[in-house]
Amino acid sequence: MAKKTIADVDVSGKAVLIRVDFNVPLDGDKITDDLRIRMALPTIQSVLDRGGRVILMSHLGRPEGKGVEPEFSLKPAATRLSELLSRPIEFATDTVGSDAVSKVQALSNGGVLLLENVRFNAGEDEKKLKKATGQSSDPAYVNTLASFGDVYCNDAFGTCHRPENASMCSVPKAMTGKLKVMGFLVEKEVQYLEGAVSNPARPFVAILGGKKVSDKIGVIENLLPKCDQILIGGAMAYTFALAKGLKIGKSYAKAEDVPLAQKLLVEGAAKIVLPIDNNAFDNFVWDTYSADPSKTKVFPFGELPGNFEGLDIGPATTQRYVGIVKSAKTVIWNGPMGAFELPPFDAGTRAVAQAIADSSAISIIGGGDSAAAIEQMGFANKVTHLSTGGGASLELLEGSKFETLAILDDK
Ligand code: AMP
Repeated sequence: MAKKTIADVDVSGKAVLIRVDFNVPLDGDKITDDLRIRMALPTIQSVLDRGGRVILMSHLGRPEGKGVEPEFSLKPAATRLSELLSRPIEFATDTVGSDAVSKVQALSNGGVLLLENVRFNAGEDEKKLKKATGQSSDPAYVNTLASFGDVYCNDAFGTCHRPENASMCSVPKAMTGKLKVMGFLVEKEVQYLEGAVSNPARPFVAILGGKKVSDKIGVIENLLPKCDQILIGGAMAYTFALAKGLKIGKSYAKAEDVPLAQKLLVEGAAKIVLPIDNNAFDNFVWDTYSADPSKTKVFPFGELPGNFEGLDIGPATTQRYVGIVKSAKTVIWNGPMGAFELPPFDAGTRAVAQAIADSSAISIIGGGDSAAAIEQMGFANKVTHLSTGGGASLELLEGSKFETLAILDDK
């Protein structure tokens, strides 16, 4: 059943406790990519425009849960949010301590308060808490957060696959008798990642890359019956090459995933498309790599000799994949086509990104590296949907249902 969204709530005069995912990449105190903050703006703005007040909670990174660690502070996110909303933002230096409590009480309608990183509290990660203390939740932490809002709103798509985070499940569950809804970002993510897949415009093409077959196995299995073709790139392709008994030189592959790859090649024989060539590097070492044309060579797929490591799809594969993207009506992309951090091995990823940007197909880009690549290349506004969740988008594409959404109110 469809879930209520923030649009279904009369928020006038109410305190809306919004779980956002402001887990943004930082370089010192500089935010290097503010996509997740920008994507949360429609929900925040909608509450403010309708006379409500907003209390935001989020995590950032993986602090230990033992108090403040300055490098994981959400202060830079508060500064950025204030710039984006063109209004001052209140920031609490704790999550459920005296600063948070007094700032929640003082907040008036039209105001925004961001609480400090929820993961500074041992009560946030309930899996860790259980391991350390045997307690399945921290009632003082949960109930204090729950008391901050008249309405709970989940707009933290990037964390939706993590029900063990108290702010995602235990807190809304503790808000008995209060409305619990999703925000516009979560609504949009679910609409695209579930909707486009269940009823796609055809041809429907999935492009999967990155490192591990085992990470994407669920996605391949779920998409196989639904899509028309699955293009494989990135290091993942070499596990498939091994499964076919081909030569991969020193390329990254997971021997333990070979049986899985063999099974998929049988099930998906008509749909799985493997590379036909690869760009490789002689004696590759990640930490000391520097581009060197004399050590870089293209080989047919599965014919990589001795010390060569395949690091990108080759030009013939790139041309083939670009052609398939051009004729597609729906494209889903998750995972780079090569080690795109190391030119010239970014070429395949760039070409695929460009083809998706140029196409009029419905395009859905999974979070993580492929979303970062699309952003870096300046194509963010040329795709239909750029997901803010890496793990969460993969899980939705696998067909998983999220408890963090199931607990929200039905329409
Ligand atoms: P994933 O997190 O599984 O999407 O993997 C992304 C990572 O895979 C990126 O850091 C890429 O550099 C890396 N990657 C992609 N293709 C290759 C390759 N052929 N060899 C080594 N690393 C690769």
